[in-house]
Amino acid sequence: MVHIEVDEARCDGFGFCEQAAPEVFGLDDDGVVTVLLPEIPAELAARTEAATRACPVAALRIRS
Ligand code: SF4
Repeated sequence: MVHIEVDEARCDGFGFCEQAAPEVFGLDDDGVVTVLLPEIPAELAARTEAATRACPVAALRIRS
């Protein structure tokens, strides 16, 4: 399993992560990314990595 580190100060709320992996990422009422799962199961790992790469401000980091 992998974990996601979020730099909330960098997040600009574009939502690309949510589009790529809606099971994993959402946006809160302030338009800041929130991680919906405390741990990412293996079957979502590839999409989570794609979502991380999609972030234009590099606010997401994967930690295994
Ligand atoms: S793609 Fe990056 S900037 Fe956009 S909502 Fe996700 S974490 Fe925030």
